[in-house]
Amino acid sequence: MSFKELNLNKAIVKAIDEAGYTEPTLIQERTIPLVIDKKDVIASAQTGTGKTAAFALPILQLLFNKQDAPKKGKKIRALVVSPTRELAAQIGKNFQIYSKYTNLRTTVVFGGAGIEPQIDILKKGVDIVVATPGRLLDLHKQDVLNLDYIEVLVLDEADLMLDMGFIDDVKKIERLCPEKKQNLLFSATMPFKVEQLANSILNAPVRIEV
Ligand code: AMP
Repeated sequence: MSFKELNLNKAIVKAIDEAGYTEPTLIQERTIPLVIDKKDVIASAQTGTGKTAAFALPILQLLFNKQDAPKKGKKIRALVVSPTRELAAQIGKNFQIYSKYTNLRTTVVFGGAGIEPQIDILKKGVDIVVATPGRLLDLHKQDVLNLDYIEVLVLDEADLMLDMGFIDDVKKIERLCPEKKQNLLFSATMPFKVEQLANSILNAPVRIEV
């Protein structure tokens, strides 16, 4: 199986070629077609399996296809929620690499760093935001981050997010997004608490285990 067979745009395939990826990993092979098909997905996958590209590539594909739609310029269209700033930064870096030949813009916002530079970037307009829960809610409260136009929401490392006590924040974030959107949940383990969260957010999700 090749990335081209996964129906990814040339601009995206070129970037992944340059990143040295020769073929999709198992989670990518399974997840990418479902996401492109706009399905909700719940996937149990550890870090190291290529799960970041499994959601990042099809999200870029979906947004890229519609990027010339009018008045989309300043609207955040995809949101990835991640438990730690290290993970958020890593995901953001991957989005930047994969979107190199598109004009889709990604930014990362997390706590423990100055909020002003993050606000400046948001004000210029981005398509994709990768965020830790607390800072995301902070920026939303300050009216500099509008979640009304989110088309895809990703909850990454959901088990870790719950272990770190972010359950209420995550639920709040989801409620701030439109009800009609695509939802993707990734978790290394699937304890009951994660299943419960998935049940309350995902719509007829397809389950993937690798
Ligand atoms: P992740 O599980 O998303 O943290 O990815 C683990 C590592 O695998 C990262 O360094 C990725 O850049 C790399 N990677 C992801 N997908 C592929 C692929 N299809 N081929 C080669 N390396 C990959």
